[in-house]
Amino acid sequence: SAQTTRLYSEEDLVVILTSSTIKQSLLNSSTAWLVQFYSSWCGHCIQYSPTWKALGGDVKDWEQAMRIGVLDCAQENNFDICKDFGVHFYPTFRYFKARNPAFDVGQTYRGTDREPQTVRQLMINFIQNQTKQECPATCPGLEPSSSKNILSLIGQKSSQYTAIIVENEDSYVGREVILDLMTYRGLTVKRALSSDKLLVEKLGVKSFPSAYLLHPNGTHGILDVQKRLRFFFSSFLKLLPGVYRKNFSGATPEPLLKGPQGFGNLDAWKDFEKSKVYMADLESGLHYLLRVELATHQTLVGEELSTFKDFVTVVAKLFPGRQSVVKLLETLLEWLVSLPLKKIPYDAILDLVNNKMRISEMFLSDQLQWVGCQGTRVGLRGYPCSMWTLFHVLTVQAARRPDALANTGLEENPKAVLQTMRRYIVNFFGCQECGKHFEEMAAESLPQVKSLDEAVLWLWRKHNQVNRRLAGTMSEDPNFPKTQWPSPDLCPTCHEEQDGIHVWNDDKVLVFLKQHYGAANISPKHLR
Ligand code: FAD
Repeated sequence: SAQTTRLYSEEDLVVILTSSTIKQSLLNSSTAWLVQFYSSWCGHCIQYSPTWKALGGDVKDWEQAMRIGVLDCAQENNFDICKDFGVHFYPTFRYFKARNPAFDVGQTYRGTDREPQTVRQLMINFIQNQTKQECPATCPGLEPSSSKNILSLIGQKSSQYTAIIVENEDSYVGREVILDLMTYRGLTVKRALSSDKLLVEKLGVKSFPSAYLLHPNGTHGILDVQKRLRFFFSSFLKLLPGVYRKNFSGATPEPLLKGPQGFGNLDAWKDFEKSKVYMADLESGLHYLLRVELATHQTLVGEELSTFKDFVTVVAKLFPGRQSVVKLLETLLEWLVSLPLKKIPYDAILDLVNNKMRISEMFLSDQLQWVGCQGTRVGLRGYPCSMWTLFHVLTVQAARRPDALANTGLEENPKAVLQTMRRYIVNFFGCQECGKHFEEMAAESLPQVKSLDEAVLWLWRKHNQVNRRLAGTMSEDPNFPKTQWPSPDLCPTCHEEQDGIHVWNDDKVLVFLKQHYGAANISPKHLR
């Protein structure tokens, strides 16, 4: 029942097992498993569930070696299965080997330390102790490499990168990075020990752990990361050009040099910096929204009309754009406010957007020109990317200029921009699946937003939740992998580690978002 499944949901990065799936999942599995048998009425299990979810997210990239599951023994359907597994106390943690040919109750973890870092290290030990027969394809080599093996690679040309984590014997970082990158191709990660004097001297590594990178062209050197932590190493390596997620379900990624074409844009690839926001993306997004997406609605009435009015209000007051575009948005707003109609034919709006009234100095380009939102092929990135970008810019503008919405009826409401976005997405955004998911997230946590700064952070957090869900799926552009953003190279101070788990420094993230999406960071490059 809904009541007993409440502790974990499909959104969580753990596999929810049931009486009808558990035996099948564990039998002959290509991966090892760590399963928590819990009971939804046990207070400790309830308290522990956020930790377990955090662990699930933390080791998501390891899922081809080991998966994390949960099974609720308090659910009536599961009574018998928990008896079969001999589960007497909750929570019970059990490890299961890969390729188990017969039913097996697993190996119990009896330790009292259930901190994610400890559990993660136990997972590594378990994976490492499996034999090659048990996981021929899915267990990456976790043993340290010899200096001979590594030195023979140095200076050689290769079809891919090799990264070597040099670390002390008791460190887990190397194995964590190996597992983090196991679903990526274009790169091999190895580990070596600091006690290997010959190697350490040859590489010139002075502190441990450090990462040493061999490039495909034969050049090599110590990786320069701001903090020598697992998350920094892994993020850096995942973002190397030519490194892609292996299980990427779309077509083989094409190298950028071929001149990718996004959304019918036949021009050559436009270089851009990922530390900037591009006005061309924002204007192209507005053009698409006003002339294409909304134009499929013949008339606006009721909720659609009021959503449209609020949307125009928010952009007219907050869009930090070119004078000619702001003028168009302001004119549109004045027109909407002055016309107390219950129903507006969209053609009338289009006439205005296309400036059929010949109002001077008012203009919105009708060409799609994606820059920071360029996709490697048609159908990737483009418009949805510009939607996110637009609303991040708007939430930041609202926080930086709290008076901007004065006398609009929206000024008292710190959630005004987000609510407008929510209603726009539900009523008009062409991707219905997206709208459904966004609505679920908004219903769950938008009411808690109490200030303009919290609104900025809320959108950032939800966007990362979407990134996490979409990573490795068809809508991911292989050249722009979905990561938890901003990556450490964009904002090193945003990232910290607490009890071995990556955590965000929200204060630093807020400062970063306000800078990144601030008007001064919006580049006019490639504007037509
Ligand atoms: P995007 O995710 O579009 O991000 C654009 C840019 O924003 C990035 O390049 C980066 O510079 C920056 N950025 C990334 N993360 C953050 C962050 N956390 N905070 C601030 N800035 C960030 N697609 C689906 O397939 N299924 C869905 O359910 C779905 N839901 C969506 C819901 C909404 C509301 C929107 C606007 C889009 C949704 N999409 C969905 C589309 C999807 O999220 C991407 O927009 C699309 O796949 C293009 O991805 P992208 O690589 O251009 O990056």
